Parts: sequence; structure tokens; C-alpha cells
Amino acid sequence: MSVFTAAADQSVCAPLSVLGRDVTVPLVTGGEVTYAALDYAASAPALQRVWDDVAAYAPYYGSVHRGAGYLSQLSTDLFENARRTVAEFLDCRDGDQVVFTRSTTDSLNLLAAALPADCQVFVFETEHHASLLPWRDARVTYLDAPRTPEQAVATLETALAGRDPFGPALVCVTGASNVTGEIWPVRELAAAAHAHGARIVLDAAQLAPHHPVSVQELDVDWVAFSGHKLYAPFGSGVLAGRADWLTAAEPYLAGGGASRKVTRRTDGGVDVEWHETAARHEAGSPNVIGAYSIASACKALTEAGFDTLVARERYLIDVVRAGLAEVPEVRILSLFGDDAPRVGVLSFVVEGWNSSHFAAALSAEYGIGVRDGLFCAHPLVRALLGSEPQAQGECGAPEAAPGERSLNAIRVSFGAGT
Ligand code: PLP
Repeated sequence: MSVFTAAADQSVCAPLSVLGRDVTVPLVTGGEVTYAALDYAASAPALQRVWDDVAAYAPYYGSVHRGAGYLSQLSTDLFENARRTVAEFLDCRDGDQVVFTRSTTDSLNLLAAALPADCQVFVFETEHHASLLPWRDARVTYLDAPRTPEQAVATLETALAGRDPFGPALVCVTGASNVTGEIWPVRELAAAAHAHGARIVLDAAQLAPHHPVSVQELDVDWVAFSGHKLYAPFGSGVLAGRADWLTAAEPYLAGGGASRKVTRRTDGGVDVEWHETAARHEAGSPNVIGAYSIASACKALTEAGFDTLVARERYLIDVVRAGLAEVPEVRILSLFGDDAPRVGVLSFVVEGWNSSHFAAALSAEYGIGVRDGLFCAHPLVRALLGSEPQAQGECGAPEAAPGERSLNAIRVSFGAGT
């Protein structure tokens, strides 16, 4: 929830396109307006604790692993401590690596670049594009949208049973959908993957901000998430998990920090020994403040306690669902049905309304900021709507003619972290 205060001579306005006409609706002139920013699934507002930690450290930051000076030493300590904090937050195994990346998208692309030769990849069509698309250079099997968690496990079992049993394989699965908020049966999918000699990476972009994620309990091989969805600012993410594939792979980026020793050969070329730690994939000057802010958010969530956060969020989800249920024109989108466990992410369509206009009206007239569109998950939205979505912008809001049935959806998302 954000509160803007407008000065007496100032108005807070919102543009609205109604039936093709651009109008500007004043929300308030002077005084205080409460604006409900319900788009946490895109980016959650940073926690005050995170801002405070970052502000306290910001005057002192320096380059890590590169200097004898105090600022460099301090930054190196904070950066490496942040790695340990994230490993604890995710309940990693001994020997797991925590690589700081730019985002979930970056983390999954890093893992895709580190796949062993001939790796087969299995991924549900329902994934966010960040976890659907990075594998296209590998041998990918796309699995149809399941309609129950049990069907998801059975579909994966069947696909894995038919795979080449000798080569490496990876399953990529999302922990909680960025469209429906539904929580996937990760532990069961991991068991199925391992039973067939495959590994599994969890896209926890939407799960980690709302639920405890234990690498060991879920028995997943890697986890990816983004800072900006976990109440930390933009620009940092994490890939955590088994070291072997990461250490065997060429560095994701070549450059300083990733290399341990570089020598000139007699034939004029250059030989490189790469680090075997997480630094192998963190070439260049890393985003220390980003890593530090992720660690700060992890600590804040742990201290608040996930039991409390989950219970509070459960209450909020029930309030929103009950409110929407009172509107007969509203259809909530779901793969797994009403009883599925979910996080605070919920998409719906309103019969007779263009979703883009509806979302614009919520913002302009009620100060409620939601998201409309296809949410970077075209195949999933297609499966949910049972029709071809209008894909004019990957994540954005395609236009439909006035009065035309919605071919995209409206998403409301929130969290108990703030
Ligand atoms: N995975 C899921 C489930 C997401 O919801 C998102 C973003 O919305 C991503 C991956 C990509 O995250 P980022 O844009 O931070 O890379």
C-alpha cells in the first residue's frame, strides 16, 4: 500500500483510455490519497529494513575481492556474508554454491548455459517465459498444462520414463505461478525427477517471497529467485544449488573476478584457469548492494517468521477471493481449482469487460494498481482462457475492441511482507 500526499495546489491524476478516448481523471486535489499498489508479483516494494540497511552501507561501498583498503575489505565481507545468509535462507546443502546474478531470468539462463552436453530438459508449458525459454538450445520436451497437482506429477513421470536413461536430464518447474498464484507440488516433482535420474531446478521467483523454500526439504538441485520480488530493490538475483554442473561449465561471463590465473602462451594465445567457486560465474564488479539488500530481505523475512507471514497472507487471499466471488461477472483463473494452496497472486477476467480498460479504471477511479495482460506466460494464459490470447506485447496489455470479450486477464498480487 502506498500513500501519496498531494500539496493543496497539486492534483494527483491518472490517465485512462475509455472506449478509445484518452481522459485524465483527478484522484484528489490536495490532501492524502491512498494508492493500493497490488502488483507485488511484478516487483514488491522494498522493506523499510532493507532501505535502512542499504542506506547505512551505501556511503562505504567499494569493489569486492580487489583491494587491501578498508572499503574493499568491508564490501568483500558483506558480499560473502550475504552469500551465507542466502544459503541459510534457502536451507542449502553443504557444498552448494550461491551465485549472485541479475535476476531469476539471468539465473536460469546461467544454468541453461551450464547444462552438460546432450542434456534433456523437461518443462511444463505453463512456466513463466523466464523458465520456459532459456532451454531452447537443449533437447527440450514441453509438457502440457496439467489440471491437478497429481496430473502434473503423472505427466512428468510419463515423460521421464520415455527419456534416454543414460544422458543427463533437467526438470525446470515453478514453485508458485505468477498468473494463478497456485503452488506446484515441488517435492513430488523432485522425487519423480530423481527417481528417473534427472535433476530439478525450482523457479522460486513467486514462491520465495511468500513461503519458506528449503532446498533440502524440497530436495531440489537448484533454486532461482529475484531480489526485486523479495522486497529488495532491482538488479540482483540468485542461483543456488549443486556446484558440479556449475564448476564444470565455462564461465557464464568471461572476465576479471572469474579467472584465477591468466597466462600468455608461447604461440601468442592466452590460457585461463577459472575459479571453481561461485566467482566463476560472477565476472566483473558484482552488484554488492544488490546482494546485500537480498540478504537484508532474507533476514527480515526470517525474523518476521514465515508462519506469521503465510497466515497473514492467507487472510488477505481469502478477503480478495471472497470479494471477487460477489461479482458474478468475475471468473478467477485456475489450473488446479479452488482448493489449491496458493500465494497472494490471483488473475481473473470480467465478463463483458476489456481487461486493459478494467485495470485502467481500477487505477484511475479507485487508486488500485493491478496488472493486465499475458504476464509473460502466453501458453499458460492461453490454457486458462481456453482461447488464443492477443499477443501484441510479451508481457503488456493487448488492446481489444470496446465490448469485445477479454483475451487477456487482470492480475492482483500482494504479500504480507510489508
Ligand atoms: N519466474 C516467475 C514465476 C516470474 O513471475 C518472473 C517474473 O515475473 C520471473 C521468473 C522472472 O523474474 P525476473 O524478471 O526478475 O527475472
